[in-house]
Amino acid sequence: MTEALTALKKRLADILALQQAGAVLGWDQQTYMPPGATEARARQLAVLGRLSHDMFVADEIGALIDKAGAELNGAGYESDDASLVRVAKRDYEQQRKLPSEFVEEMTRLTTLAYDVWARARANNDFKGFAPLLEQIMDLKRQEAAYRGGGAHPYDALIDTYEPGTKTADVAAMFADLRRELVPLVAAIRERLDRVDDAPLHQDFDPAKQRAFAEMVIQRFGFDFNRGRQDPTVHPFCTSFSRDDVRITTRFDPKWLNPALFGTLHETGHGLYEQGSGEALEGTVLSGGTSLGVHESQSRLWENIVGRSRGFWSCFYPQLQETFPAQLGNVSLDAFYRAINKVSPSFIRVEADEVTYNLHIMIRFEIETDLLAGKVKVADLPELWNTKYQEYLGITPPTDTLGVLQDVHWSSGLVGYFPTYSMGNLLSAQLYEKAVAAHPSIPDDMARGEFGLLLNWMRENIHQYGRKFEPKELIERATGEPMQARSYMKYLKAKYGEIYGV
Ligand code: ZN
Repeated sequence: MTEALTALKKRLADILALQQAGAVLGWDQQTYMPPGATEARARQLAVLGRLSHDMFVADEIGALIDKAGAELNGAGYESDDASLVRVAKRDYEQQRKLPSEFVEEMTRLTTLAYDVWARARANNDFKGFAPLLEQIMDLKRQEAAYRGGGAHPYDALIDTYEPGTKTADVAAMFADLRRELVPLVAAIRERLDRVDDAPLHQDFDPAKQRAFAEMVIQRFGFDFNRGRQDPTVHPFCTSFSRDDVRITTRFDPKWLNPALFGTLHETGHGLYEQGSGEALEGTVLSGGTSLGVHESQSRLWENIVGRSRGFWSCFYPQLQETFPAQLGNVSLDAFYRAINKVSPSFIRVEADEVTYNLHIMIRFEIETDLLAGKVKVADLPELWNTKYQEYLGITPPTDTLGVLQDVHWSSGLVGYFPTYSMGNLLSAQLYEKAVAAHPSIPDDMARGEFGLLLNWMRENIHQYGRKFEPKELIERATGEPMQARSYMKYLKAKYGEIYGV
């Protein structure tokens, strides 16, 4: 007798369909929608969002979850049904914690804050943004209190992006990284002139860039029968089902990196979505389990594969054929070094693999102290610049290039940043394990073969969708919790060779 379970599944499938329809509208908004449609689109999205939210937090859903749980008494923890009820219950309890007036106020404030932030960033005017940032932080403290469950208010916020992860876990991760990363960056800083990335800054026809990148990601295993790539301003990946995954890319006609590595990055996200178990399709279990695990997949294909010497020993001749005038006289070694150039910079999104996590560490330290009331919003610019000097050896000349650069806080995304670093660490940890299982993976890569690597990710990560929380999933896949050791080993070996440190 599984009447309640059947009814629950039907309800949840309907809600998911509404959310996915909203995602189609959101994708369209960022790709093809004419600018004049902004207001109409916001209305449509608001209605879909409200309908799906109201349907989900209804008392009836809670009752069905309880009854379905009772019906399944004795079902294995790993079974699809038991997992569905477990995850639905978690989502339900989380969403019921926030009063609807609170959610409305947060939406109102962040919609307003986005424009104010964008203006402040354009005008290098931190004071223009500060009052709204204070209000947002007040609301985030309130949200943490509503959600509860943690020693630090940040615990409740990070949990919304990385279920089960605590502030202390993140602090420990950064302590491990800081110890080895800061000296590595300092050593490389003495030798920055050993790598020249000028060959990457030339005229590169966007149509040719696109054709080359799509050829590569097909080899990775991205299924164009169940996915698409389209141009956008701020690249992202979204999906409306495992059979309809959209990646987006920005093309720069004078710089090879954004579209090339951006495509490989978003493809990593896309492969995860396309690999979600078939049996989970149309349920709350489909898709990725957390932002950090999602990012592990994008960083894997972008960096560990896409910036490796083996990969380019296979694909560089084809890239040279695509751009003979630009790259015909640039050796494989010079190209490999150029795409791995380390350069302490002000802007996080332009950072290389070595310095990237320092940018995140700074944001994490500031966010946790802000939330705990240990630092004031007014003091942020100075604090930001002090930390950049300490960790990266540079001081941003303006707040536009400093504390105002990221959109996250204006959108109310507090606790989000650490998932980027978790993704970096996990990419190396998972890759190491995949190679231990299939030692031929690096050689395969040099022959343009990625099947064993993709299959390992499919079997150990993708197929489970949201069934397991990130900590469970990583322990099952690698036999240990998330750790910084694999990532630091990877960085030291690769950049030690490039920079002779
Ligand atoms: Zn990503």
